[in-house]
Amino acid sequence: MATITASDEQQILDRVPKQLYIGGEWRNGAKGTLTVEDPATGEALCEVADSSVDDARGALDAAAEAGPEWSRYPPRERAEILRRGFEAIVAREDELALLMTLEMGKPIEESKAEIAYGAEFLRWFSEQAVRIEGRYGVVPNGQGRLLTMKQPVGPCLLITPWNFPLAMGTRKIGPALAAGCTMVVKPAQQTPLSMLMLAQILEQAGLPGGVLNLVTASSSSETVRPLISDRRLRKLSFTGSTEVGRKLMEQSSENLLRLSMELGGNAPFLVFEDADIDAAVQGAMLAKMRNIGEACTAANRFHVAEAVAEGFAEQLAEKMGAMKVGRGTQDGVEVGPLIDEQQRTKVSELVEDAVERGARTLVGGQPRDGAGYFYEPTVLTEISEDARLLKEELFGPVAPVKSFAGEDEAVAAANATEFGLVAYLYTNDLKRALRVCERLETGMVGLNQGMVSNAAAPFGGVKHSGFGREGGPEGIEEYLETKYVAVSL
Ligand code: NAP
Repeated sequence: MATITASDEQQILDRVPKQLYIGGEWRNGAKGTLTVEDPATGEALCEVADSSVDDARGALDAAAEAGPEWSRYPPRERAEILRRGFEAIVAREDELALLMTLEMGKPIEESKAEIAYGAEFLRWFSEQAVRIEGRYGVVPNGQGRLLTMKQPVGPCLLITPWNFPLAMGTRKIGPALAAGCTMVVKPAQQTPLSMLMLAQILEQAGLPGGVLNLVTASSSSETVRPLISDRRLRKLSFTGSTEVGRKLMEQSSENLLRLSMELGGNAPFLVFEDADIDAAVQGAMLAKMRNIGEACTAANRFHVAEAVAEGFAEQLAEKMGAMKVGRGTQDGVEVGPLIDEQQRTKVSELVEDAVERGARTLVGGQPRDGAGYFYEPTVLTEISEDARLLKEELFGPVAPVKSFAGEDEAVAAANATEFGLVAYLYTNDLKRALRVCERLETGMVGLNQGMVSNAAAPFGGVKHSGFGREGGPEGIEEYLETKYVAVSL
């Protein structure tokens, strides 16, 4: 990797549009600006527009106005815009990766992986845009026909978190555009820069004004609340914490909005004694350390068969302890900072709680001194049943390893959580693999692999991890209504 200089950083920051994007125009926010910070230094990177309630309403006005025309746009043309967006993101991978690392902290190579993943949703849904189909059927008594047609749900509000600043946007924007919906997008205030660049890329790709509107805000609850109760809004797609998702669901009930809720996780990672342990450790590194542990899919707790638990934990500790921690722009860095002090304090508290209840620290266990919100990669064993980190989402580079005696105990431990996003399972016994997959209460399972994310697959959870699916053929259905026409013959 070529050395990144301060001037490279400044150049990319200078190129980011920093205003609100409403009705095809870039404009200032009525509330002034909000500061975006580099989590590796705690210093300000730049200011972006801070929108008022009226700005947000203006964004919905534009989406509502553009709706009818966009819904009638030829699917092939919608597809071509998405395809051009995909190509532009891929072509600009280096600068977008640097921007993402600056605002979010993850190492450059991981930012590149997210950019490839995020771009893929535009390509995938460009291919889906021309495959929206209804059906034609003969009614059972033979005396009539039934038609179904798929139509866009209408103006959407898309709210995204900070941990995947681009991909959590494209995972919603891709299918919404393909389906013919217009939208207001609100990224997390900590990481709005990647989404601002994406809006500009789509504008340059030929997206008509008003189809996608982007507001950045320092007070999200206040700014988007009136949109949720506005009768013109028809759908809310939210990715973020279960706590906020629950509030938004409550608010949405008033207006009976279609909802997609991609919420928090607490993924179990099961390793049976018949597994390939080296492969399991490799998979564990990916499932735990991708995105600095700040992924909804991050393995939160490792349940390992008694016979192999000690060896697994030692190998994992050796690999985690060898990881280079630092600013994501530096060569060879594998672990960047956590997003902010609040997040780091939560990770510290969960580790301290586990240690107070008897956990043994094999490696790490401490925040790093100095600027930025760094936390050491940590492996803990001898975890007490009542340790908080078994129940709560860790969102950091900490791996608690606990042993189990048999399959029933492993499944019970895996399911002992209110969350149900993803589980990982390592075994070489095919019958056991299928048996356990069926019994896991999650929306997704990684079978002998430590990552499940793929634009062609339906991503989503059950229980308190939410509902709805993003990606795959299922992803576009979230943005379509089915209309039935009864035909008399
Ligand atoms: P968060 O605090 O729930 O925030 C998510 C988004 O909601 C941000 O844009 C935030 O804006 C906005 N928001 C917060 N309170 C709001 C309110 N009252 N009304 C309207 N909008 C509001 O979550 P986060 O800390 O950014 O993200 C981490 C969480 O996301 C984790 O729990 C993780 O598991 C989950 N996640 C889930 C998935 C999935 O696919 N299931 C994927 C990624 C992340 P501000 O920035 O202004 O607060």
